[in-house]
Amino acid sequence: MTTDVTIIGAGLGGLTLARVLHVHGIPATVYEAEPSPAARSQGGMLDIHDYNGQLALESADLSDEFRGLILEGRQAMRVLAPDGAVLHEMPDDGTGGRPEVQRGELRQILLDALPADTVQWGHKVSGARTLDEGRHEVTFADGSTVVTSLLVGADGAWSRVRPLLSTATPEYIGKSVVETYLYDADTRHPAVAKAVGGGAMIALTPAREIFAHRERGATLHAYVGLSEPQDWFASIDFTDAEAATARIAQEFGGWAPELTALITGGDIAPALRPLYALPTGHRWDRVPGVTLLGDAAHLSAPNGEGANLAMLDGAELGKALAAHRDDIEAALTAYEQAMFPRSTEAAIFEGAEAHGADSDNSTTHDLIAAITRHEQPQ
Ligand SMILES: Cc1cc2nc3c(=O)[nH]c(=O)nc-3n(C[C@H](O)[C@H](O)[C@H](O)COP(=O)(O)OP(=O)(O)OC[C@H]3O[C@@H](n4cnc5c(N)ncnc54)[C@H](O)[C@@H]3O)c2cc1C
Repeated sequence: MTTDVTIIGAGLGGLTLARVLHVHGIPATVYEAEPSPAARSQGGMLDIHDYNGQLALESADLSDEFRGLILEGRQAMRVLAPDGAVLHEMPDDGTGGRPEVQRGELRQILLDALPADTVQWGHKVSGARTLDEGRHEVTFADGSTVVTSLLVGADGAWSRVRPLLSTATPEYIGKSVVETYLYDADTRHPAVAKAVGGGAMIALTPAREIFAHRERGATLHAYVGLSEPQDWFASIDFTDAEAATARIAQEFGGWAPELTALITGGDIAPALRPLYALPTGHRWDRVPGVTLLGDAAHLSAPNGEGANLAMLDGAELGKALAAHRDDIEAALTAYEQAMFPRSTEAAIFEGAEAHGADSDNSTTHDLIAAITRHEQPQ
């Protein structure tokens, strides 16, 4: 390979690609918009699956480091009714195949496993254009440019590389989540901590849901889901944390206090996250010298697979480039031919997977799917 691989985005997908390339002795440079690794909290826990995310970490030669991050017991799952009654409970017996880790810690083991200066922080891409013979010019927000003969867009939902390949743009899925955190919950919110249990908990009606997770250090992290158009959320001032909290809690009138406390007991301002997706089955015709991975390629409604798929994409692309060192197009073709159907299949999962539940547990799956379809739980 005559050029460094140029990767845009230091999320889990871009970093896994850089690491797998490094394992195979292929240099890469990752350009990341954020000014430093600590610029932003990396969010909550991720369950890393034995059929995709864990395979990627194996390819990255980081399985031992990954195992050191696993939070024991977090695969437990509870399904509660809005009044707090337990509808279903699945313990974590250690055989679930999708252990939970903190996203920030996972990102850090990837960063620590790359040569210094692989990631160029503070490089926000503003656009990219095709030159000739598979070469592309990438422009940064400060006006500087780089030219590369292998460009990979790992820059997430609003990718600046995607327009080189496709005209698709993400569309709002009709649902947003409001994120809250309750710290030190065993001591400060014992009833809430008990309701959430040792792992994850979901309580839902067809248009309202609360999904919460016990993170490291007895932190409870909740995603409060509301199926409403974006205009509905626009009428709420999220810069006024108290008023926004009260307005969201109002939507959960009649729910058990140990559930609504996941909204009202938040220790930091509630954060609104509108959810977007690319069309299912999004694909493109081969364009020499450029490809996409992760959310840039196949953003879908949260289904517990996105980060896992991004990492697997990164690993598979890295391995394809290592296997076809003298033929970038052969590598990109092999990668895309496997990635397109893989991501389409994952996007059409629904029900329990959409809430991070264990896909092997059919009772949990059936129960959540039935409630989502407006049926009375049995
Ligand atoms: C509420 C919610 C819950 C989720 N829960 C789960 C879950 O439990 N399990 C799971 O597997 N997935 C989950 N996902 C999905 C998961 O977060 C994504 O699929 C995953 O992060 C995609 O990884 P990525 O590397 O492709 O992109 P990202 O993680 O988005 O990383 C992209 C990187 O590119 C950088 N970037 C963006 N634009 C530019 C630019 N112009 N120039 C330079 N850099 C740029 C960003 O700063 C970022 O670092 C969830 C998503 C949401 C919204």
